[in-house]
Order: sequence, then structure tokens, then C-alpha cells
Amino acid sequence: MGRGSEKRGIVIGGGFAGRRASRLLRSGGHHVTLISSSGFWEYTPGALRCLVEPAAARRMVQAQPRGTLRATAVGLETAGSETLATGVKLNDGSSLPADYVVVATGSSYPDPIKASHDVASSPEERRAQIEIAHATLVSAASVVIVGGGTVGVELAAEVAGTWGRHKVVTLITPHDRLLERMPPRAGKLALRWLEKKGVWVILNDRVAEWGGAPKDAAKLRPGGGDWKLRTEQGRKLRASIVYPCIGGRPLAGPLETRGFGPRGEVRVDTNAGLRVEGFDNVYAAGDCCGTNEEKNAFTADLNATVVARQILASHKRKRVKLSYPRSVCARNTTPSISVISLHKWSAVMQFNGLVLGGPLPAFVKWLIEKLQVHSALGTPGVTFIWDAVETINVFLARFLF
Ligand SMILES: Cc1cc2nc3c(=O)[nH]c(=O)nc-3n(C[C@H](O)[C@H](O)[C@H](O)COP(=O)(O)OP(=O)(O)OC[C@H]3O[C@@H](n4cnc5c(N)ncnc54)[C@H](O)[C@@H]3O)c2cc1C
Repeated sequence: MGRGSEKRGIVIGGGFAGRRASRLLRSGGHHVTLISSSGFWEYTPGALRCLVEPAAARRMVQAQPRGTLRATAVGLETAGSETLATGVKLNDGSSLPADYVVVATGSSYPDPIKASHDVASSPEERRAQIEIAHATLVSAASVVIVGGGTVGVELAAEVAGTWGRHKVVTLITPHDRLLERMPPRAGKLALRWLEKKGVWVILNDRVAEWGGAPKDAAKLRPGGGDWKLRTEQGRKLRASIVYPCIGGRPLAGPLETRGFGPRGEVRVDTNAGLRVEGFDNVYAAGDCCGTNEEKNAFTADLNATVVARQILASHKRKRVKLSYPRSVCARNTTPSISVISLHKWSAVMQFNGLVLGGPLPAFVKWLIEKLQVHSALGTPGVTFIWDAVETINVFLARFLF
């Protein structure tokens, strides 16, 4: 137990979910230690812009807030009962006691799009990694992007929007359209924009032979290499760099061998405030959490909100169980809200069934970035505004489109 009746929580992960959960728990009077394996916070939605414009990393990559413990959580301690976590084991062999634990360890994505989670580097080191990745890309003659989801489309748009037809940009997807998890109109708008910029978009095909191209582009020399790839349908592609954009992998690190499913996602009880299966006092939020919904910064925030409310409530009235997403969205599915950048001045936005393209969504994306980055920097009042924007969106999404 913490000082007097104060609860002592540990939140593992300094991304969107972890930071939101720790803020809400602290404002509920709990003593919370935020642990993060990376010494920086990164606005991941801006990571692709950083690859083509590394100066953007000065705002997208920030130091973690003071008081964050820089360490990697490698396991949970359980004393007596296997279902009750009593502390968190750290990579230096020490451990921290806790009354409850929130796992918000996010997901991994190939370097350099996302820095490896267990490299405990500073903002300066991450910005230097981005500079190197940019230098590799600047002198690359041809780029192959594997995957036509949100990350693949945004990356193709950043490269084509920056260098136009000076680089050969190819995007290949096994699906019959781009942005396959969004309404078809979103894919059509993205396809039209990319093709206008000279991107060769290949649908209904996949890379069969990588020709030795590494799946982690972080370690390439400037200009990359010269690889010859072959697709299932026999197309031959030439690439100086190949970026695999086929989705992230959930990270459940501290749960060791318990509580996670086949893809590494943490199994949670959606009828008990996202409590991790097999535990009484461990919760999960964000990309690592095995909820059946689109994984993005918005749903990471919603996950963290229900987790914090569940913990605060159960430490007051023992039997309360919050269902997710109903308790935070007043409906059984989370709203479908996303904005996909098409370089700087255009984007595609989805708000439930409504799809818009053009400069207005690009402005929305710019505004979101401003609010999120300033909220992370602790600019007075911005976190309040951001919370209000999310609450209004959740409310509107119940009734619109
Ligand atoms: C290229 C790209 C573009 C994206 N664009 C968008 C977008 O436009 N809009 C949007 O809403 N979403 C976007 N997303 C998704 C969004 O970034 C994620 O959904 C969001 O970051 C999830 O937040 P999180 O807190 O769960 O995890 P993360 O942001 O991954 O944070 C996890 C944290 O946990 C730490 N950690 C991991 N393991 C440990 C451990 N064992 N011990 C201690 N700390 C640990 C990490 O260092 C990190 O600080 C994008 C993702 C990518 C990769």
C-alpha cells in the first residue's frame, strides 16, 4: 500500500495510453510511477513526416515528463496468489512494489518508422536516428512500400509528395483497394491522389521474393541497396529501400508467458475495465491490449480512460465493473475516426460512415498534431482542450453518420 490510504500504481509505457492512464490516476489521488523503456515520447502519427523532413522531429520527439522512470519492465511479481501482482520486475534486476499495474507497452513497428522499444535512448538519439533514415531515403532512387493500409499510404504520400517523380515509388497490397479497413471511398481518394503523383500502386498482389532486401531499413547506407523483388503474379520490382508496412506487433513484455494471445496481444476482460485475464489487479490499454477495434491514438486514450476509471472506482466501491467501450462511448463499438495524411495539403478523413478528402482533413490532422504535441509538452490548458475535443467527438459519433 502507498502512504496512508494512497494507492500505489505502476503504469508501464510512456505512450498515449500510459500517459493518459497515469494522468487520470494521479488526478484521482493515487501515487503512480510511470515507467518507460524509451527516454522520449514520440508523436507516432508524425513519424512518417519526420522521414522526409527530419526537422519535424524537433516537435514530434520530446523528452518524457520529469519523474518518469526510464527502465524496461520484464515481469510481474506475484506473492502468494498468482492472480495478484505485487510489483514489477525491471531489466536491472530490481523490482518496484505496486497495488496495481497498468500495461501500456504499445506495439513494435520496423525501424526506422518506430524506434525499437527497448532502446532506452534520449530525444537527441532518436532525432539522430531519424536524420540517418532521412539521409538513406534522400539518395534512394526507388522505394517499394509493402502494404496499402494507413501507414503504407501515408508513407507513399510523404515520399511522392516530397520528391514527386524524381523517385520511383511503388506500393503493393494484396487487397483489391487501398485503406481496406476504411470505407471504399477512402481507398479511392487515396489511390487517385497517389497515382496523380506518379506512385505505381499494385493491387491484388504480394511480394513473393524479397531478393535479400532487409525488412528493417534502419541500418541501410545512404541510397540503400539495389534489390530485385518478385511478386506472386510475376512482377519484377527494383528497390533501393523496401519499407514493410504490414502492421505493428503488440508488445506484452512484462506479462512474460501469461495473459496474452497468439499475436502477442494482451487478453483482457472487456466487462471489467480491461483487466488482464488471469489477474485481479493488472490492466491493459492501447496497442498492446487485445480489444477488437482499430488501434490508434484515439482508442489508446479511450482504453486508458476506462482502465483509470475502473481502478479508481474499484478502490472506492469494490464490486463495480465497467464495460468497454460502452462505459466510455455509450455504445457497443468505438467510433471510427481517422485522418490519413496525403503529404502536407491533402488528407482523407473518416468519421463513422462519412469520408472526406482534400485540404479540410489535412487541416484537421494539423490541428490534432498541434494539440497532441502541446499536450505532451505540458502547455497550460491544452490537455483540457484535447480532452474536450475527444469527448465531443465521442458524443457526436453516437448520433452522426
Ligand atoms: C507510422 C505510424 C503512424 C501512425 N499514425 C497514426 C495516426 O495518424 N493517428 C492515430 O491515431 N494513430 C496512428 N498510429 C497509431 C498510434 O501511434 C498508436 O495506436 C499509439 O501510439 C498507441 O499508443 P500506446 O500508448 O498504446 O503505445 P506506444 O505509443 O507504442 O507507446 C508504448 C510505450 O511503451 C514503452 N514500452 C514498451 N515496452 C516496455 C516495457 N517492457 N517496459 C517499459 N516501457 C515499455 C515504449 O517505450 C513506449 O513509450 C500510427 C502508428 C504508426 C506506427
